[in-house]
Amino acid sequence: QKKLRPADYNAVINEAYNRFKDEKEGKNADYIPFLAKVDPGMYGIVLVTKDGQVYQVGETKFEFGIESIEKVFTLCMAMELFGDQAILDKIGADQTGLPFNSVPAIEIDGKKPSNPLVNAGAMATTSLLTSHFGHEAAWEKVDDYFAGFAGRRLKIIDELYKSEAATNEHNQAIAMLLKSYGYMYDDPLFACDFYTRQCSYGVNAHDLALMAGTLANGGVNPVTKERLIQEKYVPKVLAIMGTTGLYETTGQWMYKVGLPSKSGVGGGIISVMPGRFAIAVFSPPLDKAGNSVRAQEAIKFISDKLNANVYIGQ
Ligand code: GLU
Repeated sequence: QKKLRPADYNAVINEAYNRFKDEKEGKNADYIPFLAKVDPGMYGIVLVTKDGQVYQVGETKFEFGIESIEKVFTLCMAMELFGDQAILDKIGADQTGLPFNSVPAIEIDGKKPSNPLVNAGAMATTSLLTSHFGHEAAWEKVDDYFAGFAGRRLKIIDELYKSEAATNEHNQAIAMLLKSYGYMYDDPLFACDFYTRQCSYGVNAHDLALMAGTLANGGVNPVTKERLIQEKYVPKVLAIMGTTGLYETTGQWMYKVGLPSKSGVGGGIISVMPGRFAIAVFSPPLDKAGNSVRAQEAIKFISDKLNANVYIGQ
């Protein structure tokens, strides 16, 4: 593989930006007004290399809802605290083939939460953290941990949190159901609310790139050089992203692109090429599964150009 220069990365992300700028497909998430009203034209790309070089184009400062992408970092924290076997035993690591908030999925998988990147598994993972730290201290611990990944302290978007919390009965029901099956490790409604708050973090594309870049760099933030997760756990986290990161179209994504990724309904997608770089793209309009249309296009374009695919290797 030929050595890439800064000019090469710049050229590739700019080409990806221009190529998909006029994409009209997709629609903002509209289950709450906050997400529906974000300007669908906004579009930003950030690529960070393992050694901390950052390349960016477009709207990379605007703060949007992290939403489901938070699940990855909650998983990292729980794995770091309890180990990879505990994640397998208490949550699971299998694809459901069903939507991210599916109730039947819980019944199908032996009444287990399935995996940490669907709502059931994410809330169960959160409950491991809240019961470990206690309700009083947990938020500060999680907040510090997320700040390590992003390289700065993130804030909750209050309006987003309030409207998510006012309409999250479905997630509350999932949390209660898990409790009844013995797969909820703290008060279910507390864990559900805590999860809802985590989904309401405001992030920009730059923050997400550093968060993903930490996973591309074996668990060390490529810019601040802080270690957030042991190197041996990173492939486990990436494996789960490669199984479930793009909702029920993850299989197609891995087939076409081959990069462990995670999307959120706020319009962000992160992708990781282990040992090389990470990409974060923000663009609110989503496809039917809930994945940003432009972000998928841009990441596919960039990974093709840079010959990045975990099934090819480095
Ligand atoms: N807060 C959303 C929910 O749990 C997250 C949606 C997502 O990004 O998948 O319903």
